[in-house]
Amino acid sequence: MLESIQIRGNTEMQKTAETLQADAAHYREQRAVISQSTKKSDMPIAAVSNKPNRKVYDGQSKAVLPGQLARQEGDPESSDNAVNEAYEGAGSVFQLYYDVFNRNSLDDNGMDLVATVHHKSNCGNAFWNGYQLAYGDGDNVIFKKLTELSVIGHEFSHGVVQFSGGLVYRDQPGALNESFADVFGALTEQYKKKQSAKEASWLIGEGVFTERVEGQALRSLKEPGLAYDDSILGKDPQPYHMDFYVNTTQDSGGIHINSGIPNHAFYLLSQYLGGNAWEKAGQIWYHAMQNLNNSLATFADWADATIRSASLRYGHGSYEMKMTRRAWKLVGVM
Ligand SMILES: [Zn+2]
Repeated sequence: MLESIQIRGNTEMQKTAETLQADAAHYREQRAVISQSTKKSDMPIAAVSNKPNRKVYDGQSKAVLPGQLARQEGDPESSDNAVNEAYEGAGSVFQLYYDVFNRNSLDDNGMDLVATVHHKSNCGNAFWNGYQLAYGDGDNVIFKKLTELSVIGHEFSHGVVQFSGGLVYRDQPGALNESFADVFGALTEQYKKKQSAKEASWLIGEGVFTERVEGQALRSLKEPGLAYDDSILGKDPQPYHMDFYVNTTQDSGGIHINSGIPNHAFYLLSQYLGGNAWEKAGQIWYHAMQNLNNSLATFADWADATIRSASLRYGHGSYEMKMTRRAWKLVGVM
C-alpha cells in the first residue's frame, strides 16, 4: 500500500519513500511468486472451525519477522494498543469472510492470522508478505499509525487473492489485486460497523495520516483522486474512469493508481443495489475472484468475470447483472 503515495518535492520525504519502495520491491517479488503458486487445493486439510486463530507479534522495531509473540488466540488484552488493534482487526477480517462468504480464513482452510506490529523503526508501511502481515508504527511525518481496520482488511485480502489463484502484482492484474484488497478492506470496516452502502465512508486508511498531511485517507472508492491533496504528497493520483488511465512504469505499472477505476465500479454497483454492500455487490465480486482462474486478468477480463458472477448468482438478465454491466460502462471499461 505504501506505493500508493507518490512522494515529491521534499528530499526528506523522498528519501523515506525510496527506502520504503526498496523494501516493498522485495515483498512484491516474493508475493508475485507466491501468488502464482499457492492454491487452496495445495493445502493440507484441517478440521473446520468457526473461530480465527490469531497470533500477534511484537517486532520490537527490528526488521526480522515475526518477532516476539505478544498476544495469541484467547489471550487477554495487551497493554500495547497496537497489539490489540492488530488482534481485533484480524478478528473482524475473519468474521467478514466466515459469516458472509463462508470462507474459513484466508486459505479457506483455517490458516493462522499472523501479524507483526512495531515492524522496523519509523516505518510508514503495512504489508502482506505472502505469509503474514507487518505494520510499521508510522514515520510520524506522513503516517501516524497503520493498524486501522480498512488497512488491516486490505492487507489480509491480498492473502485471499493469493489463495484464490492469485493475480500478478503488476499492471492491470496488479491494479485488480489492489482493488480487490481495497474493496474487501472497505467491506471489513462496513461489516464491523454494520454500515449500509449509503452510510459508509468508502475510505481506505482514514486516520492514518499525521496532522501535517492535508488528506482524509489513502484512497477513496467513492471519489478516487480526492482522498488527499497535500503540499508534500501531492494530489491523490487515482483515476475514476478509463479516460484518465495512467500509463506508467512507476508503482509496478500504476497498481495503486489505476485501481481507482475498478474500485469506483464496485462503489457504483453497491449504490445501485442498495442495502449492505457485502450482501450483493460483495458476493458478486467474491465469487468472480473464486472463479477467475486467470492471474493475468485485465480490467476487461475482470468486468466480464463479475458480470458472469452476477448472472450465475442472480439470473441472466437480472437487475444485479444489468447494474454490474452499467457500473463497468460508467467507468469506461465496457
Ligand atoms: Zn495492497
